[in-house]
Amino acid sequence: MIEHGLFYRDTWVEVDLDCITANVAAVRKRLPAEVTIIGVVKANAYGHGDYQTAMAALNAGASMLAVAFMDEALSLRVKGINAPILVLGASRPEDVTIAAKNNIILTVFQREWIEKAQSFLAANANLSLHIKVDTGMGRIGVRNIEELREIEEAINKDSRLVFAGVFTHFATADELDNHYFLDQLERFDEMVSSLSSRPPCVHGSNSAAALRYGKANFNAIRLGIVMYGLSPSQEIKADLPIKLEEAFSLHSKLTQVKLIKRGEKISYGGTYEAEQDEWVGTIPIGYADGWIRRLQDQEVLIDGIRSPIIGRICMDQTIVRLPHQVEVGTVVTLIGKQGDAAVPIDEIADKLDTINYEIPCLISSRVPRLYKKGGEIIDLNNALLPKNN
Ligand SMILES: *Cc1c(COP(=O)(O)O)cnc(C)c1O
Repeated sequence: MIEHGLFYRDTWVEVDLDCITANVAAVRKRLPAEVTIIGVVKANAYGHGDYQTAMAALNAGASMLAVAFMDEALSLRVKGINAPILVLGASRPEDVTIAAKNNIILTVFQREWIEKAQSFLAANANLSLHIKVDTGMGRIGVRNIEELREIEEAINKDSRLVFAGVFTHFATADELDNHYFLDQLERFDEMVSSLSSRPPCVHGSNSAAALRYGKANFNAIRLGIVMYGLSPSQEIKADLPIKLEEAFSLHSKLTQVKLIKRGEKISYGGTYEAEQDEWVGTIPIGYADGWIRRLQDQEVLIDGIRSPIIGRICMDQTIVRLPHQVEVGTVVTLIGKQGDAAVPIDEIADKLDTINYEIPCLISSRVPRLYKKGGEIIDLNNALLPKNN
């Protein structure tokens, strides 16, 4: 079942669907009409919610979706998404029947996979395939022209199989130095040219390549991180041609507020000791929510003021130093904006020495996701929810 928007704990993620719409629309506006936007919604749409993100992306100009695993594609089908869905990662040959039945496009990159798949496929089945070409990422993909042509031939010989696309993935499209990228692009061109016929869908670009190199777009782009309003990397952030709107924010509410005395300690190990009498508060979020222990000392927003986490983060709770006495129930924003103040995802990524992609993925499924449109929280039927959350 799909989330209904009701929950019983005071910690939640807000996903602003208007941001996703705006980001996709901004990319759409820059692209020639013949270039398809494939909205990448793997990993529950980078933690944002697969169904809601997919709907917003499709409404804003994407016409196809991509996920990493077949399970994710099926999850979207179950929720009622009818758009074409491409599984970017490897699928098992024994699962091709389920893919065909659910109109899911699979990725192939090994000659033997086709032979195995053929033995599982019913006589009247119809399965669309994209061939993945490895031009330098070194992850999955056909690496040589001979095998590429063998795979093409095997697909074309079997009337149940449709050669629907060919694609590659760039390893350095988000770096300022474009040498490796250009080598990959050249290799991709060479491999695509070696095919006896060009399939309808040829694609290479992720978000970074799509926004930076028009000639790598062929006739489709795979748009992930930019759709969510995040930059593919810090080094190209200033050069991005569109303004991104961050869709994801994380909030909680104070469950207890207290004045502690100078010398009193906070949380496991007593690692924090008050240097003076101070107001502190507890929020119901912890490392089991993906708010990991290394975020100790990170600042959160309370009344629009940056306030530090103090002491160790627990499994389910975290303690913060308050800027002043505030009411129990006051909203604490861990990621996102409060008035003019903001804690962007990039700040959290920086603190954890990682990339922004990882942060919304890290916030676990224990944290409910709420969706916003026109500044209001909505449920799946786009009805407004009572404002008690
Ligand atoms: C995840 C993924 C993408 C999306 O990349 P972004 O940088 O998020 O735009 C595109 N292509 C493949 C093969 C992927 O695995």
